[in-house]
Amino acid sequence: MSKQTKKNEVEEFQFQAEMSQLLHLITHSLYSHREIFLRELISNASDALNKIHFSSLTNDKILGDDPELKIQIQFDEKKKTFSITDNGIGMTHDELIKNIGTIASSGTSEFIKQITGDKNKDMELIGKFGVGFYSVFMVADEVSVESRSFDDKKAYKWTSAGTGSFSIEPIEKDKRGTTISFKFNKDSQEFASKFKIESIIKKYSDFVSFPIELNEEITNKSTALWARDKKEIKKEDYIEFYKYISNAYDEPLSWQHFNVEAPVQFKSILFIPKEPDRQLFNQNLDTKIMLYVKRVFIQNDCKDLLPQWLRFVHGVVDSEDLSLNVSRETTQKSPVMDKISKYLVKKLIAEFQKWAEKDQDKYASFWKEFGNFIKEGIHTDFSNKDKLIELYRCYSSESPDKLISLMDYKNRMGVDQEEIYFVCGKNKDIIENSPNIEYFRKNKIEVLYLFDEIDDFIMPSIGTYQKKKLVGIDKAEIKISESEENKKDALGKADQEKLLGYIKDILGEKVEDVIESKRLVDSACTLVSPKDEMNANMEKMMKMMDKNYQGSKRVMEINSSNSLIKNLSSIQNKSPQDPLLKDCIEQLYEGARLLEGSLNDPSRLVPRTNQIMQKATDLYLKSIGS
Ligand code: ADP
Repeated sequence: MSKQTKKNEVEEFQFQAEMSQLLHLITHSLYSHREIFLRELISNASDALNKIHFSSLTNDKILGDDPELKIQIQFDEKKKTFSITDNGIGMTHDELIKNIGTIASSGTSEFIKQITGDKNKDMELIGKFGVGFYSVFMVADEVSVESRSFDDKKAYKWTSAGTGSFSIEPIEKDKRGTTISFKFNKDSQEFASKFKIESIIKKYSDFVSFPIELNEEITNKSTALWARDKKEIKKEDYIEFYKYISNAYDEPLSWQHFNVEAPVQFKSILFIPKEPDRQLFNQNLDTKIMLYVKRVFIQNDCKDLLPQWLRFVHGVVDSEDLSLNVSRETTQKSPVMDKISKYLVKKLIAEFQKWAEKDQDKYASFWKEFGNFIKEGIHTDFSNKDKLIELYRCYSSESPDKLISLMDYKNRMGVDQEEIYFVCGKNKDIIENSPNIEYFRKNKIEVLYLFDEIDDFIMPSIGTYQKKKLVGIDKAEIKISESEENKKDALGKADQEKLLGYIKDILGEKVEDVIESKRLVDSACTLVSPKDEMNANMEKMMKMMDKNYQGSKRVMEINSSNSLIKNLSSIQNKSPQDPLLKDCIEQLYEGARLLEGSLNDPSRLVPRTNQIMQKATDLYLKSIGS
C-alpha cells in the first residue's frame, strides 16, 4: 500500500478502498452531528493519558520530566485554527500507520454494510466500530497528527485530506504525546469560538478525569461523576456519562449509582443499554466495567467485576480498598473484587426482578433484548441460577402473545399434573401444527412454546422447577394417560401388533422403534425422541456444528384410531403384498420427518406422493363412472 521513499523524507500512503468509502460516509452522512469530532478527539487523548498513567504505576520513570497529565486545546477565533495536545502514550511511525491509516478491515466492511442512512443509527455505529478519529474530517479539510511515542526518541507527522491518501514525515518534537491540528473548513467556522468549544466540552467531556485546558484555562470539572453527591447529579449528566464510556449515541435503559461503605468501600455507576451491541453475542467478550482505584484509572473491560453473562452492562467501579498497584493478575484473586462483584450482581438481579414484578412492559422489552444473556446466566452462573430461573420468560399454548414465567405456569397447573411441558420450534404456527401437541390441546394441558435455539440447552439446565420436571413433549417417556374415547374405535390388539411389526420391517434401521401412540388425537403418526435422547431442534444444531453428525434414531408412534392407519391394517389383512402399503408407510415416515424439519433428502418423497395421488385419482374417476 505504500510508496516508500528515502529516509527522512515524506512517505506517501494510499488509504484502502474501504477506508476512503468510510471517510466519505462519515463526512457526508453525519454532517448534522459535526460537534462530536471534539468528543472523539478528547476521548482519544484521555485514553492515551490513561495508558501512560497505567504504565507509570509499575515504572515511575516513564513520566520523566513531564509528569502532569493533561489535555490542552488551542484555537484562534480569527485564523479559525484548532489543535488538541495530550502528553499521553503517543504513537510510533508504525502505530500511526496502523492506528489511523487503516481500520481493522473486517470491522470496516461490516460497518459499511450496516450503514443505514438514518443519522442517529449511523452515529451509534460509528461509536461501536471505533472510527471516531475520522469524524474530524467533518470539520476540517486537512488534518495533521504529530506524535512521539513514550518509548521512542523520534517523532512523526501524519497528514491527510481524508480522501485518497495520507503522508508521514519525521519531525522534531521534544516531548512524548500527540497533537492534532487543523483549520476549520468553510462550513464549520462556528466551532472556532470559546463559547462553542466550552459548551461542547461541558456536554460531553466534563467527567474526563484529566484537566482540559482551553487556551491555558481549565474548563472541565474533571471530578469523577461517581464520586459526586447523587443529589447534585442531573439525569443528563448520567446520560452523557453513559454515552462517553460506552461509545453509545442513545440513552441507556436504566442506571444505578452505588456508594458503598461496607463490607468494602467502593463507588460505582452501572448502566443497562437499551439494546445489546451485536458483537456481545460472541461469548468470549469481556465484561465492560472500567476499574478505578482511589479515582485513578486502572483498566478498561475489567473482567473480574461481573460474570460474563452480564457483559452487556457498562459502568465504572472505583474502590478505596484496592491497592494502586493492582494488575490484571492480582484483581483476579482479590477478595475485595470478589465482594464488589457479589454486591453488584445482587443489585443488578434485584433491579431486573423489580421490573419483572412492577413494570412488566419494561421487563418485556428488556427480556426481548437481553433474554439470551439471562439464559446464558442460568446455564453458567450456578450461584445465581435459582434467581435467574425466576426471571425466565416464554410464551405458551395458554398465553401465545404474552410472556409468562415458570411460576405463572406452575400456579395454573392441574392438581394431578406432574410435569411441566415444553415444545421447541421455529414459530407458533409450526408448533401448533405439530402432531405432538394434539394430546395437550385436547386435554387442555398448558405447554410452553420455546422459539429460541438456546432454549434447548436451557431446559435441561433448569431440569426441575419447584419439584416439577421440565419435559419436552416430543420425548418418548412422557407421562400421559390414554383417553377412553380414543381406545373405543382403535384397531384390535392383534391387528395393531401385526401392523406395527410390518412397519418396523419396512423402515428397518431408520427408526429406533415403532409403537402405539397415546398422545396422538387426529394425526396418523409422529416421531419422538427415545428416552434421554436429544429432541429434533437440538439435533439440527448438532448437525450445524458437526457435518458428520449422524443424529439419533427416532421412535415412530402410530395412532391406531386414525382412519388411514385402519385402512392400512385392512390392506395388510386382505392384500399384504400390495405395493401401496409400503409406499404409504414410507410416505408417513418421511412426512413426519419433513414436519419436524429433519428430512435431508426429499428426492423420493415427491415422486412417491405423485404415485399415490395417481392411484387415488384413478380410483376416484372409476367411482364416479368415467
Ligand atoms: P478508537 O479510539 O475507537 O479506537 P479512533 O479512530 O478514534 O478509534 O482511534 C484509532 C486509534 O488511534 C486509537 O485506538 C489509538 O490507538 C490511536 N490514537 C488516536 N488518538 C490518539 C492519541 N491522541 N494518542 C495516542 N493514540 C491515539
